[in-house]
Amino acid sequence: MMERPACPWRRPSIWVRLSRNHLAVLGSTIVAAIVLVALLAPWLPLVDPNLTAPADRLQPPLSPTALLGTDQLGRDVLSRLIWGTRVSLAVGLSATLIAAVAGSGIGLVAAYVGGPVDQALMRGIDMLMAFPYLLLALAIVAALGPSLMNALLAISVVNIPFFARAVRGATLSLVRREFIDAARLAGYSRFRILTSELLPNVMPVIVITMSTTVGWMILETAGLSFLGLGAQPPQADLGSMLGDGRRIVVTAPHVAAVPGVLILVLVIGINLVGDGLRDILDPRLKAGALSRPVARTATMPAQRRPGALPSTGPSEHGSSPPLLAMHGLDTQFEIGREVYRAASGVDLTLGRGDSLGVVGESGSGKSVTALSVLGLVPTPPGRITGGSIRFDGTIDLLDVPLSGLQDLRGGRIAYIFQDPLTTLNPLMPVGEQVAETVQRHQGLSNRGAWAQAVEWLDRVGLRAPAEKARAFPHELSGGQRQRVVIAMALANRPDVLIADEPTTALDVTTQARILDLVNDLRRQSGAALLFITHDLGVIATLCTRVLVMYAGQVVESGPVAAVFATPRHPYTRGLLACVPVLGQPERALDAIPGLPPPVNRLPRGCAFADRCPSVVAACRQAPVPLRPVGPARTARCLRAEDGLHG
Ligand code: ADP
Ligand code: MG
Repeated sequence: MMERPACPWRRPSIWVRLSRNHLAVLGSTIVAAIVLVALLAPWLPLVDPNLTAPADRLQPPLSPTALLGTDQLGRDVLSRLIWGTRVSLAVGLSATLIAAVAGSGIGLVAAYVGGPVDQALMRGIDMLMAFPYLLLALAIVAALGPSLMNALLAISVVNIPFFARAVRGATLSLVRREFIDAARLAGYSRFRILTSELLPNVMPVIVITMSTTVGWMILETAGLSFLGLGAQPPQADLGSMLGDGRRIVVTAPHVAAVPGVLILVLVIGINLVGDGLRDILDPRLKAGALSRPVARTATMPAQRRPGALPSTGPSEHGSSPPLLAMHGLDTQFEIGREVYRAASGVDLTLGRGDSLGVVGESGSGKSVTALSVLGLVPTPPGRITGGSIRFDGTIDLLDVPLSGLQDLRGGRIAYIFQDPLTTLNPLMPVGEQVAETVQRHQGLSNRGAWAQAVEWLDRVGLRAPAEKARAFPHELSGGQRQRVVIAMALANRPDVLIADEPTTALDVTTQARILDLVNDLRRQSGAALLFITHDLGVIATLCTRVLVMYAGQVVESGPVAAVFATPRHPYTRGLLACVPVLGQPERALDAIPGLPPPVNRLPRGCAFADRCPSVVAACRQAPVPLRPVGPARTARCLRAEDGLHG
């Protein structure tokens, strides 16, 4: 077994998390106290619960011989209450267990085996569910004869469908997952797959259903006993006590009130524990969880540096301010006690008509940087803790109110996400989705927006655009969907177009066509392009400037031609060396050994030091600044000038 690396922050155990939920703690305290007293019944100094004493009938509570009074046969209410709680708890819990085991078994087998077995089992369950369910319990008890055992059986049976349905649903979502295929390929038997692969994964569903139904089952037991179909005289359970007190509720209310209050308290306690367990085992259902994520990345204004216009902004376009000027952007994720510095001190300038490529290994902070521009980094756990992002010379995007930001999103600043299938609504024709974007920002009529949408679909090269506009996303190929997404991004003639690896999911020829398209459209509309990719070839054909990112920092920037011809940072050199060249099979493509440091444990000095062929002692001693290394070029390397080292 591999040694697990020491982890300073562990997910707290289920008990610790449960103990943070005050209501669940209250619930468990109530339930624990009641269960404890019920368990201790044989050892408590109680009189026989069934001992009648006609002389002491209907004593009020707090009378000298009976703390909670006596009932119409002179039996001690406290003693009957404690012994009766024992019975009610035992019946409720056993019924839950039986229903859970039988129902989960049926659900698991039905979902896993499928076909006729599934049909037969589920139709049986449907038949059980077709009857109103207390009526069914009554019918079962009526057929079998009134007794506590039969009541237990009836309640178990009527609750089996809840478990069967919940577990079948959960199992169905798992049986087609790859880990089940893998288990099958590994030669595991069906039984083994059911018990060791599927069961543990649906266990939370079973536990949640149990904890939320056990209170209900105790109530049902009480209900049947109340009607005289459960516990038979003289045996006490909470329901039969309630039934006994019913006829004298006016003259001696305590006889019914005492078990009634206990049922109420017990069921509330059990449900509080159940809700607490559910919140932990299925956080998606937690109260309030559905309101996340917030519409905009949280910023921490108090800690942000004032947004000065960057001095290093090399604008190729005269004196007009750059369209986008990001300065010192710090975006981090706070998960538990760990802080992941996904983007630290990122500077980036985008002038009108510019096309800037951002490259770097996966996880280097490219997407986070781009998402920060429009406040799209999810909060929690994301936070922008520093920097400024000026748009069009004046507004700091981190300070604009949300409504202003929403007007810019998809309007003057457009974003093409990586996976076109996940960003399109599967239930809406693609033309409507483009029209919706147009309408949101240009306020056109339905007809006008639709016409615009079709026109843009035509412009991005979809054949038969009027027809394709009525197609749903799943009816289009990957390349066509990506064209739709591009049409959506361009339809409002944005000033800035951000594209995050828009072609990684596509084959090479489709990719080339899409890239040509983006480039043509950019030139025609004069938009500035921020293009994220890990493909240096794409940058070379599409971009004029390039930004190389490593572990959340910019390590080199400059005109593409110059950077690719004479890279100044060893990381850029490594990336370039990894590009395969036709006709040179002897090229080593593993030019950068090792992995980037995790961004929650960045070293003090240069983050690349451990992989760098030219590292010197000074590299590890202090943070290395980004400094000018040529016309409109910067690099974050102490040895950037030793042009030919390494
Ligand atoms: P890439 O350069 O591949 O686009 P990203 O910008 O997506 O990289 O990610 C940068 C870092 O931020 C990574 O270390 C990643 O683990 C972390 N990260 C990104 N999104 C999240 C998130 N939603 N929650 C936590 N960490 C995240
Ligand atoms: Mg990314």
